[in-house]
Amino acid sequence: MPSILLTGCAGFIGSNFVEYFLKKYPNYKIINFDSLTYAGDLKNIKKLKTNPRYTFVKGDISNRKHLEKIFKLYNIHSVINFAAETHVDNSIKKSDIFIKTNILGTHTLIDVSYKNWMIKPFHFRKSFKDSRYLQVSTDEVYGSIKGKNLFSEKSSYAPNSPYSASKASADFIVRSYNKTYGINSVITCSSNNYGPMQNDEKLIPTIIRKALNNEPIPIYGDGKNIRDWMYVQDHCEGIDLAFHKGKKGETYNIGSNYELTNLQVVNKICKSLNKLVPRKYNYLSLIKFVNDRPGHDKRYAIDSTKLRKELGWKIKTDHNDGFLATVKWYLKKYGKK
Ligand code: NAD
Repeated sequence: MPSILLTGCAGFIGSNFVEYFLKKYPNYKIINFDSLTYAGDLKNIKKLKTNPRYTFVKGDISNRKHLEKIFKLYNIHSVINFAAETHVDNSIKKSDIFIKTNILGTHTLIDVSYKNWMIKPFHFRKSFKDSRYLQVSTDEVYGSIKGKNLFSEKSSYAPNSPYSASKASADFIVRSYNKTYGINSVITCSSNNYGPMQNDEKLIPTIIRKALNNEPIPIYGDGKNIRDWMYVQDHCEGIDLAFHKGKKGETYNIGSNYELTNLQVVNKICKSLNKLVPRKYNYLSLIKFVNDRPGHDKRYAIDSTKLRKELGWKIKTDHNDGFLATVKWYLKKYGKK
């Protein structure tokens, strides 16, 4: 039974992924390696505790000694790296931890993987000949794009925030380990996700929490910044395909072409709340425009033709259903339903 190291799976996407992955692959043993920062929550993965194929280890991906121990102890065959500092606003206030986790952490993780799986450049140890390292990345590495254009995997990287710069650097490290040492790596770049188990600080949980508390819902600038939104489960399926069927050394974009301005996202959620938990006030009246985020990218949009055409990926979630399920999940979390 191969042991797969999934890092950062007490967080939003990882916790959705680990549940999906355990269910889909009954022959895998999963080690969830997470340092439990403010963004990691053991409640997200509580239901997995009794699964005999699942182990949680509290650990930091920049701690080489600990990783080496875990690789030996569990005979780690492959890695999917979700672990990261992910909040752009935090990276603008103080970027040190973004550099440590996202860049140094990724370097440590892929270097330990290389040294465990390979004897020298382009020579795998026999039992690790199929070992793979997947790096979970973001569309933000490509920077902002105008008009109706879309970023493809061939587009140049042009990150604009300390967060996206740290993710871009991590991708370059992964690329270099493939080109220099022949490690079997794949990178996925995804658009904005929505769904259950996201940290309270992120846009959608913030909108819902503020609305329910009758507090102003802050929207940066004119609210016209555009993001491509995707239900987290569809992202998980894209990562799964790239991990199992993707070509060594390649990048795959994962996005749903469902572009919304931040204002449209707030409108959508407030309208759902008006129906699900009607109050004397209209939730839309709580919207408050605040000073824009410095260096705020205007639009992210990626083309996932490669993933669809080469690996057969498709979006399965209807966005109205996905948003409704998401709102209902946070209502339950915040004790309103
Ligand atoms: P998150 O912030 O919800 O979770 C991150 C997890 O990583 C947390 O559990 C945290 O405890 C853990 N972690 C942080 N530093 C660590 C370290 N040094 N060692 C071990 N664990 C550590 O993030 P998310 O939204 O689930 O994002 C997961 C990945 O997907 C990230 O790499 C992110 O860049 C990428 N991504 C996210 C989105 C999105 O919309 N959320 C979109 C594209 C790409």
